[in-house]
Amino acid sequence: MKEIKENPLPYYFNNLTWAEAGEIVKENPLLLLPMGTVEPHGPHGPLNTDLVISSETSIRAAKKLRKMGMETFILPSINYAVANYASCFPGSISISENAFRFLVEDICLALINQGFNKIFIINNHFEPEHVKLIYSIIDNICKITGVQICYLDLTRKDRAELLGEEFRSGECHAGSYETSLVMAADLNLVRENIKKSLPYVPINLVEVIDKGMKDFKQMGLKEAYCGSPAQASVEEGNRLYETIVDLIVDSATKYKQGSYTDEPGFYGNINK
Ligand SMILES: [Zn+2]
Repeated sequence: MKEIKENPLPYYFNNLTWAEAGEIVKENPLLLLPMGTVEPHGPHGPLNTDLVISSETSIRAAKKLRKMGMETFILPSINYAVANYASCFPGSISISENAFRFLVEDICLALINQGFNKIFIINNHFEPEHVKLIYSIIDNICKITGVQICYLDLTRKDRAELLGEEFRSGECHAGSYETSLVMAADLNLVRENIKKSLPYVPINLVEVIDKGMKDFKQMGLKEAYCGSPAQASVEEGNRLYETIVDLIVDSATKYKQGSYTDEPGFYGNINK
């Protein structure tokens, strides 16, 4: 393990050699699997917003878990997802449910077959169809292998409560919440001049999705955002990461002990 820790990029599974991977499997480390999508996030935020947040969350969580003595690596991320709500805007790339399912299942099964059976999905794309699909994939992998994949659904009420007023109120697409998290990860990714002039868009996504709307323009997100991106700040982003990382550390600890199960949050429950 000493050699691995001296590697300049010690947290990324892909930086291991096959010999090192063969060594660490004996310790059954926690493997974080970051997920995002290519989806419009306002005129100010990058298409890659969700993955930027998942990647930054993963590295911050991995550092904290390692400090606590839990061996943790970050898997190569999954950058595509089912993302239809923003498909009316340029730049959006959505893949089919089957394509996503096969990709995630194949990756997890390949790892499980080698003895890596502690995989933790870090997802920040909350489109209900996508979240439901993640739960379905987890169920299927468990049916096939008996191995439980871990997923922490941030949209669950008790967790949303911790993530600020905007997130709790369902105005959470490219608003202050997501924009702050991107800014804290990489300030260059947000167009500050545009961001600071954007008006507040008070649309509760939970409500409009519940009414059956499946298109951001139809929902009233004329520029592919809601909430208050102008309010976003690096400080708020760092505060949010701390809260999210604490939730992950808590779930990871229970997961490693074998006692972790999760229930879908408000998006995962929609149209069930
Ligand atoms: Zn997003």
